[in-house]
Amino acid sequence: MNDQQRQKRFWHPMGSAAAGHCGSTVVIARGDGNYIFDIEGHRTLDAVGGLWNVNVGHNRPEVKSAIARQMDELSYCQTFDGVAHPRVYELADRLCAMFKQEDMQRVMFGSGGSDAVETALKMARQYWIAAGEPARTKFLSLRNGYHGVHFGGTSIGGSGVFQYNHGPLLPGCVLLDTPWLYRNPWRCQDPDELVAHCIGQMEETIAFHGAHTIAAFIAEPVQGAGGVIVPPAAYWDSVRRVCDRSGILLIADEVVTGFGRTGSMLGSRGFGVAPDILCLAKGISAGYVPLGATMFNHRVAHAIENGDGFSHTIMHGYTYSGHPLACAAALAVLDIVEREALPANAGRVGQHLFERLLPLKREFETVGDVRGKGLMLALELVADKAGRTPLDSAEGVAARIAETARKRGVFVRAMTNKIVISPPLTLTLDEADVIARTLREALQTE
Ligand code: PMP
Repeated sequence: MNDQQRQKRFWHPMGSAAAGHCGSTVVIARGDGNYIFDIEGHRTLDAVGGLWNVNVGHNRPEVKSAIARQMDELSYCQTFDGVAHPRVYELADRLCAMFKQEDMQRVMFGSGGSDAVETALKMARQYWIAAGEPARTKFLSLRNGYHGVHFGGTSIGGSGVFQYNHGPLLPGCVLLDTPWLYRNPWRCQDPDELVAHCIGQMEETIAFHGAHTIAAFIAEPVQGAGGVIVPPAAYWDSVRRVCDRSGILLIADEVVTGFGRTGSMLGSRGFGVAPDILCLAKGISAGYVPLGATMFNHRVAHAIENGDGFSHTIMHGYTYSGHPLACAAALAVLDIVEREALPANAGRVGQHLFERLLPLKREFETVGDVRGKGLMLALELVADKAGRTPLDSAEGVAARIAETARKRGVFVRAMTNKIVISPPLTLTLDEADVIARTLREALQTE
């Protein structure tokens, strides 16, 4: 593979396409368990878990043989009206059983997280048409939130960089402040007070727009791409109450948090809340075959199934909705998630890793915050610890630390001024120690 092949023909998602841009690229040739190997054969602990998705580790024989068996039987089948295949029914039943406690009754499939969000937004609109309140079209979401890159997800996203090059976007998308203790507009450090501020703002915003114009509130239980922002424990329950009072649908974007990453099977379940709509992807098939799913509770399913006129007709879906290989992979992945109790492992090993990372905040002037829940963690780098001034990501410190860690055998992700850690949920305590030790060494080289 020559440099021209590597750099000229392929535009990296989320990277610069500038003519002179020649950032370094790691070319990964192989994965096994919690490890990846580059084309030169260097073995690295995959502390990003692919892209927060390889939850059961790489190269699992059970998943590979399930995909191979399915490939022999039926490699593709559509699932539009009137056609299906056994695996799509099995997976739909399995998901409804797993999320029975949340009253999830119906599922629609797509190819990834952005599809899952787009489906959620469009079906939320359809719900309100079916329910006889078609004026409810707006969406509330959070600053720093990330909901994928389709036009809907881009429009409700809480980081401007994903919007700058693609406007105009969907009208009626309203951002609320993030329940983030480390940085919030009220400079509030008390979790309960912060929840009160955020909920007060949510209620004022609903009053301003009128509940009768708002379709849904959507958020990640723990924000991922925005920098691993864990809300105070009481936040989600309070949001659920506001939604109930105002009739607004609650959509949990569990694309990262679903299937155990935060220490419970769903991030929302970990906060004791049942959403109306669930967006799932990533961990559902652990990266083996692309898959996304959107699930609907009884309230939504019942209204759509009993809608008048055209409102019960689902004019949404993809060629690859319910792809047989993806369904087969997901069934095998979910067997592993349940058999190996990976949500519990994520909670236990994640807590251990958090405790090992926390001292870095005392030891290094640049480490302003260490945070996380389960196996979703981040270090935030600052220019001035007392003032919490963010380190300018143009200085490249996070990128250099990630590069040093990689050379020492641990693959982490630099996102602006944050170092993000989201390993497979099969991570061991010893491997957690390796991540913490390597990051300390990498920080020492700065
Ligand atoms: N929602 C969330 C919360 C995500 O983190 C992501 C991807 N990181 C998406 C949606 C979009 O998923 P995909 O990249 O599979 O389209």
